[in-house]
Amino acid sequence: MSLPSLRRIAHLDMDAFFASVELLRYPQLKGLPVVIGGAPTQEEVARSQAFAGCLHEIPVASFARLASYVGRGVITTATYPARAFGVGSAMGLMKAARLCPQAILLPVDFAEYRRYSRRFKQVILGIAPVMEDRGVDEVYIDFTEVPGGQREGGRVLARLIQKSIFDATGLTCSVGVAPNKLIAKMASEFNKPNGIAVVMPEDVQARIWPLACRKINGVGPKTDARLQALGIHTIGELAARSRESLVQAFGKSHGAWLRDAAWGRDERAVETRSEPVSLSRETTFERDLHAVHDRQLLGQIFTELCQQVAQDLQRKGYAGRTIGIKLRYDDFRIATRDQSIAQPTQDALLIRRVAGLCLKRAPLQQRLRLLGVRVTGLERLAAAPGAPSAPVDALF
Ligand SMILES: [Mg+2]
Repeated sequence: MSLPSLRRIAHLDMDAFFASVELLRYPQLKGLPVVIGGAPTQEEVARSQAFAGCLHEIPVASFARLASYVGRGVITTATYPARAFGVGSAMGLMKAARLCPQAILLPVDFAEYRRYSRRFKQVILGIAPVMEDRGVDEVYIDFTEVPGGQREGGRVLARLIQKSIFDATGLTCSVGVAPNKLIAKMASEFNKPNGIAVVMPEDVQARIWPLACRKINGVGPKTDARLQALGIHTIGELAARSRESLVQAFGKSHGAWLRDAAWGRDERAVETRSEPVSLSRETTFERDLHAVHDRQLLGQIFTELCQQVAQDLQRKGYAGRTIGIKLRYDDFRIATRDQSIAQPTQDALLIRRVAGLCLKRAPLQQRLRLLGVRVTGLERLAAAPGAPSAPVDALF
């Protein structure tokens, strides 16, 4: 006898991902407060070269400490022992230094994190093929039709994936399994690190309603402040409000979305192909160009870039509402400018016109090495009804 399969969606989040990858090559730092942030210093580059192949032999005493940091860098990740001192992601390194001066400071190495990112995602795809890539360290996985995906509400499959990732990479992750993405995303936080949380449809009120509204993925600080002002602090308090009152306070679509979120309703599919967040074209000049002296050539290149971006948009079926430019000067400094328009476009002439306005707002006294044109805020032109909202803008 087979029961109809229950929708089971997992959110998998790697634990302190960047820091954990660093600890794989520097196991001597395990258990110590470590923060990742900033670029490598010359000494660090030299040390890595000197110890190539035996990084684990670098003495702990020779690593940089937060206390000696001067600059404006921010933390990208902190190990759990560092978090115990109150330091965390996005905090300025100098502020963190006051909280935990003895913490070891390691530079960011995105190439290495991307390598491990590809590896852990390959492991998942070998077990559960319906996976949505949500960035370097997190994915959604549809367990519903995977053999064994229903056992213990998904716990058995979550455990298998956790173990397989650990065996292949030495890294731990946390998994939330729930009726949909919205709840799975919250559940993956419940038992961090190296934890699994399973939320069944009937658990939503007991497990989700006591949480702060901020825990809903999509409720940012602005919405939260407005909810607080209305006396709504927990998801349960949000759920108790009528749809009408929320629509009145937050508008038709946002109000209705808040209401559904509070009741744990979310029908979004796990999208196996990620949508582009932006389309861009850029070119580095053969020689540095000057805005005035090389005006004609620069104008011609600029128009071509806009035409190429427009063609990319048309070919892929997108239109975008924010048009931006990127300039790199002869001293390698970068400037970006962007401007949004009322209606999304894929038209080369309109993109050229708006990009031209952006260019007028950028400093043009110095020679240029590179020019780029980017369109963000993309919308699929043949959007299916109920398709997910426009993708978030990426940084230039
Ligand atoms: Mg993570």
